[in-house]
Formats: sequence, structure tokens, C-alpha cells
Amino acid sequence: MRLATLALAAALPLLVAATPVELAIHVAVDDAGAPVADAAWLDEQVGLAAQHLAGADVELTWRDAGDALATGDVDSVAERDALAAHAGDRAVVHVFVVPRLADKDVEGAWLSGVHWRYGGGARRQQGRRYVILSREARSAHVLAHELGHFFGLAHTDTADGLMTSGGQRGGEPSLDAGQLRTVKRKARAWAKRARRSR
Ligand SMILES: [Zn+2]
Repeated sequence: MRLATLALAAALPLLVAATPVELAIHVAVDDAGAPVADAAWLDEQVGLAAQHLAGADVELTWRDAGDALATGDVDSVAERDALAAHAGDRAVVHVFVVPRLADKDVEGAWLSGVHWRYGGGARRQQGRRYVILSREARSAHVLAHELGHFFGLAHTDTADGLMTSGGQRGGEPSLDAGQLRTVKRKARAWAKRARRSR
């Protein structure tokens, strides 16, 4: 009996399903009403993010939020915060794709993406976190990098690290075993809250 219990316990990790994480992608539209990013661009960003996160047992899916936000370049902290009004659904991770994203710390510089926490005064929006991606992102790994932040990772300084700030310098970027463990833990906790919010 005891042996049987042990055998069952040993088999359990294999039965634990991957952690489902769904992205709601809000693609800004330009003055003519055309989305600033097409399906191929999104597929590449999401595909690479899914590959990176699969190592943390995360099963990444996405859907188009379809709200056609007529936001132009995101130039300021206030404009980053303004996106929180569209990030109310707690069952998904919100990703906003905008034409350009200003570096709030360096005048005249542009970022590829950012993981942002709402810092404005609207009480209902406190604590909302989301990803803002620039259509002009310099790498197809930017969404993966920002989701790394979303799931608890800080910057590292290794040549081929996904979380190296300012872009990867080495070959194909990756997450190390410790980072994957962190993402796995944080993603599970996130998914649990997401399920409860449905
Ligand atoms: Zn970063």
C-alpha cells in the first residue's frame, strides 16, 4: 500500500498540466483605422514568447482584444497609465501594441517595449500590470522579454540572456534554469488568480 502511494506520488508531476496563460493583444490603429501591426508580426512575437515560456511549463495562447485603440505614440507616463482603462479583465495578460514608445528617462529615445504598472490615481485601476510593445521593436524577442518581467524576472547581464537589458548581444537568447523556475512559480500563482476572476 505504501509502495503504491509512493509510486503514485512520483508519477504526479507528469500529470500536472501546463499553466495556461492567455494574452489579450490590443493593437493600436493608425489615422486611417489600419492596425499598426499585422498577424505575421504578432505571430512572430507570440511564437517566440511561447517557446521561451514553454520551458517554464507555461502554455501561452493569445487572442486579439479587437478594441482598435486609436492611440498614437505613447510619449509619457500618463499615456502609459491611460492604457490601464483597457486592462480590466484579470483573466488575461494585456499586451498593447503601439506605433512608438518613448523612453521616459531619455529625451528623444524610443523603447522596444516595457512592462508597466499603473501608477495613476484611479482607484479601480490600481495594481494593473501590462505590457506595451512598440511596433518598431528592435527584436522579435521583445514580448518574451517583457513577459519575463511580468512573471517576476529582473534584468541580467549575460551575453545571450533573454533578460539582458538593451537587447541581446549574443546568439539566440534564452532563460536559465533559475529564471525558468521563477517564471513557473509566478505564472502558476497568476493563473490561479486569473481562474478565480472568471
Ligand atoms: Zn527589460
